[in-house]
Amino acid sequence: MGDARAVTEPYLQILREVPPAGPGVCRICHTGTDGPFELCATCRITTQGLHRHTEHVVPVSLCVRDGDGAQLHAIVTRRRDPPGSLRRVPFLAATLARFHQAHAACLTRLAGGPFTMVTTLPGTSLDRPVEVFAPMPRVVDLVGDLRRLHRPVLLPGSAAAAENLARRRPDERAFQVMGRVDGARVLLVDDLFVSGAHVQSAASALHLAGARSVVALVIARLVFPRANGNTARIWGRASAERFSFDRCCCSGAPTVDRATDFG
Ligand SMILES: [Zn+2]
Ligand SMILES: [Zn+2]
Repeated sequence: MGDARAVTEPYLQILREVPPAGPGVCRICHTGTDGPFELCATCRITTQGLHRHTEHVVPVSLCVRDGDGAQLHAIVTRRRDPPGSLRRVPFLAATLARFHQAHAACLTRLAGGPFTMVTTLPGTSLDRPVEVFAPMPRVVDLVGDLRRLHRPVLLPGSAAAAENLARRRPDERAFQVMGRVDGARVLLVDDLFVSGAHVQSAASALHLAGARSVVALVIARLVFPRANGNTARIWGRASAERFSFDRCCCSGAPTVDRATDFG
């Protein structure tokens, strides 16, 4: 991915910055909360009843389903390449590579130490549009830093549990982990975060199999600006500002590990 900057630079306008956690911003998934809660309405549901969820979800960009700001959602959820010269898998890989290069230190800090494994979610995705297919193993394998640690240890689990995920309810039995992953620090990479039921259930399954920490890195966090005032405010601000790979939601300040040239 030597040309991650060149691939992504013409498309900065389709990316939307993710705010750090804080008043009105969910501490897990970074969308807007309603009222006095630290967690948004969906995270309050998707963290219940699991062995152990992850507190660390790092979206590269926000997106919406319709109107201005929907381009990223369209790229992530469509099987075909969009019109024009943009190719879907290389674009997602370049986006991931550029963000990871700039924020590897942030992600490592959240994990409590260097990652020992990178993994992706298998396609159990009943709550996603039917046209979605799962490109993430291919995407991860195009990113040198991630390919090195990539191990596809997650498999679909019980069908009944997958139906719970389809209803946006978490259920760690929806995933099986191949073997033990004792002591692993796992970077769980996915393309689209909607409710978090998949990511949180997979995180819990990984913890049950022995993982020490799980950090979820997702390319797009779908938000619903009309859900509440805080989400409307977050989306309005993200849409008004130019996206920069120099910033992330892991803290309020620009990171010290500046994006360097790719090559
Ligand atoms: Zn949330
Ligand atoms: Zn960062």
